[in-house]
Amino acid sequence: MILVLVETDAQGVTLTSREALSFARTLAERLGDQPVEAVATGPLPHPDGVLDHLAEQGVTMLHHADDERLAAYGGAAWAAAVVDAASSARLVIGSGTPRGMEVLAHVATRLDCLMAANVIAVEETDPLTVSRQVMGGGVFERMRLGGEVAVISVAGHAIDAVPAARPSTPAVRTYAPTLTDADLLTRVVRTEQAGGDDTSALTGAKVVVGAGRGAGSAEGFDDLLELKDLLGGALGVSRVVTSLGWRPHHEQVGQTGSRISPDLYIACGISGAIQHWAGCQSARKILAINTDPDAPMVTKAHYAVIGDLHEIVPAINAELRRRLG
Ligand SMILES: Cc1cc2nc3c(=O)[nH]c(=O)nc-3n(C[C@H](O)[C@H](O)[C@H](O)COP(=O)(O)OP(=O)(O)OC[C@H]3O[C@@H](n4cnc5c(N)ncnc54)[C@H](O)[C@@H]3O)c2cc1C
Repeated sequence: MILVLVETDAQGVTLTSREALSFARTLAERLGDQPVEAVATGPLPHPDGVLDHLAEQGVTMLHHADDERLAAYGGAAWAAAVVDAASSARLVIGSGTPRGMEVLAHVATRLDCLMAANVIAVEETDPLTVSRQVMGGGVFERMRLGGEVAVISVAGHAIDAVPAARPSTPAVRTYAPTLTDADLLTRVVRTEQAGGDDTSALTGAKVVVGAGRGAGSAEGFDDLLELKDLLGGALGVSRVVTSLGWRPHHEQVGQTGSRISPDLYIACGISGAIQHWAGCQSARKILAINTDPDAPMVTKAHYAVIGDLHEIVPAINAELRRRLG
């Protein structure tokens, strides 16, 4: 059996968890048609849509750890609940979100087994050999998962969430997890409304307009902000831009900023240093606008326009304004 930790929101199972389920299904087929089961935590009832999403992904069973103390997030407590459901699991899989990574690391420690983090693919011929992102995504590593059980976190948006050919009707098993006082030591005790440094608009945006040193100055962002507004997206910047005080830190993309995965990233005047690339490489398409045809961002992008962003971006804006009426 393959057990997948699913995270939920008001709409049901989150997109990254559905991606992890699709990944698990591929792996299950290659391992010889193992069932894919899911585990979720928190008090019942499930948010609307959870069972529909699980059925769409071909999940046969939902193990639901029903305990009020799991309503607030706690890495060790959630891991205890996952381990309770994992007694017959060959693999425990989750998404590479901050919570997923923390819970799965606890799970691997408790099961005393290998963990492959940020996995992006499995080998056709040997499903227990996986490729994963390391060093901020700058390097790919192949890793073989030996042992009786192993843990995998799936890198966000590396796999598409594809519905199963045969949807299922998942059975629901509710259980009371074994939680110790130590499991509950570290947990969320209070949440506060995000202030002006909220990064959710950036990390959730379908289009991100990126800007680097090529913007030239704090005043050089007007056209970039207009492009962002015309496309209904968010602005993301390089560290040089925040270090120079041109834009606030919460807009920074990269290893020490936000990791983004929009459908389109328009990187303007950004060289594409490895630390910036670590934060934007999950974008589905990248368009680079740069004066240097040899800049790493240009050579790695799907599309590039070579030239001065202060000429190209206003031209794009004018055309968008014309088309949008
Ligand atoms: C530990 C560590 C962590 C880091 N974390 C991050 C991070 O999270 N995010 C991050 O971004 N960086 C990070 N950095 C910094 C990173 O190494 C680079 O220095 C930074 O990303 C470069 O920013 P840039 O591309 O804006 O500037 P530059 O590297 O100076 O590149 C500017 C680019 O703009 C182009 N350009 C110039 N003028 C124009 C114009 N008029 N029109 C079009 N193009 C033009 C140039 O050809 C060039 O390619 C980190 C560094 C370290 C050591």
